[in-house]
Amino acid sequence: MDRKPNPPRDSRDFRGGRDERDRRDQRSGGGRPSPGSRPAPAPAPVPAAVAKSGVPHGATESGWLPDCVYTGGNFETGLAFFADTLGRLTRFSREPADLAMARRLDGQAALPGLVNTHSHAFQRALRGRTEPRGREALERLLVRMTGEDVFDTARITFLEMLLSGVTCVGEFHYLHHQPDGSPWPDANHLSREIIRAAHDVGIRIALLKVAYARGDFRGDAGSAPARFRLASAEQFVRETEVLRVAVEKDFPADEAWLGIGAHSLATMPLDAFKSIAAYARTQRMRLHAHVSTTAEENAACLAEYGRTPVALLAEHGLVDKRFTAIDAIHLGEDEVKLLGSARAAVCVCPIAEHSLGLGVAPVEKLAAAGAGISFGSDRNLQIDLLKDARMLEYSLRTRGQPRSTFAADAATALFQAATFTGARSLGATGGALEVGRPADFFTVNLSDPSIAGSEPDALLANIVFAAERRAIRDVWVGARQRIANGRHALQGPMVGRFIDAQRRIWGP
Ligand SMILES: [Zn+2]
Repeated sequence: MDRKPNPPRDSRDFRGGRDERDRRDQRSGGGRPSPGSRPAPAPAPVPAAVAKSGVPHGATESGWLPDCVYTGGNFETGLAFFADTLGRLTRFSREPADLAMARRLDGQAALPGLVNTHSHAFQRALRGRTEPRGREALERLLVRMTGEDVFDTARITFLEMLLSGVTCVGEFHYLHHQPDGSPWPDANHLSREIIRAAHDVGIRIALLKVAYARGDFRGDAGSAPARFRLASAEQFVRETEVLRVAVEKDFPADEAWLGIGAHSLATMPLDAFKSIAAYARTQRMRLHAHVSTTAEENAACLAEYGRTPVALLAEHGLVDKRFTAIDAIHLGEDEVKLLGSARAAVCVCPIAEHSLGLGVAPVEKLAAAGAGISFGSDRNLQIDLLKDARMLEYSLRTRGQPRSTFAADAATALFQAATFTGARSLGATGGALEVGRPADFFTVNLSDPSIAGSEPDALLANIVFAAERRAIRDVWVGARQRIANGRHALQGPMVGRFIDAQRRIWGP
């Protein structure tokens, strides 16, 4: 029996993004990439663990049969799932012949890959140097971090994401220039290095190219730190367009694509913000920005523009279903309604926000109003989206009225945020295991002590609230195995390169 799972809620909104990607896929021919702006390194031999797929080489279909698979909002047992050679899910089946043909994933449960909506990969190099604050460490990093260091740091960050079940990342990228602050001969050099790092590791990436103009509200144009600084909105758009065309040519549309970021209203004056948003709209790109991260930011925005950030952006037509507000901690009731009625997304980063003592976004109100909630690892202090999910829920319970919670079925709602809604925020094709979407999934080891003994009806809550990261065993992206038994085939060299980069940055 073929079985087509129920579409998750919000699937109509998703369709827009997917159609867009599909059209681009056809235009670009869907060919394999020749990534990067500089000559690609000699291809590494494909290790056995990577070459393995659900069925032997030469077959037109890959199939898997875990103990149970999370699809249509439930864990199903005795259900195999199959993907075509493009890595897209084609069918689910309980037919004995199909079950016999599928690759058995014994003692494992399969779940859709997690989507990390907001990362600053380069900040992984600051880990351990920003507790509690790290202004000096950041300044040192900015003058020492070479292009190669950026690549090695992004690569280990994306590796760690894959190890934690993340199959798609939104990289909010604003480190653009050379260590001395001057532009690279290719202005998009570091954007390309970030995409190359994602490709090397095998994770999908929405590169959100971020404009950052000034140090703070009312700051002079060009007062931003030199390595982030925007020359002008027009130049930013020109350079981004060059990159967009190159990425579209070099990569399948759902492996790497561009979005636009405005760092925040503090760092992007409204007129410049509007210019880059207009460009994003013409290309149907997603637009992300930090908003209302602190109460001070709201007060300064009110002083400069007479409105708080979300109200100001909405007044200028910038809040719509392609917009994602990052942090969104200090929102008025009207702003919650604006984000909700626009069907915009809100990305919260609980570990990062807690680390800075910033507070918690009113996500239960935002979700009730219609906004999509997703998760980001932001500073990459720790990379564990399920930990972000449980931290958010516990914060709501601590902060709110008695019995305050994200949703009545908290585990399902949190997992939806970590997968499907995150994909929608990035314009990604994944986020759920259903026919037509990519075979992006991770498995958990059902014998791991942190989740052992769970019956299927309690398994999702066990995973969301209790799974240790080591329980994540295998990770597949587009039907290709990237993590086998908790390890990436190229993990050793990637970690070694990063250790060398850290020595260069922090050594004498
Ligand atoms: Zn951020």
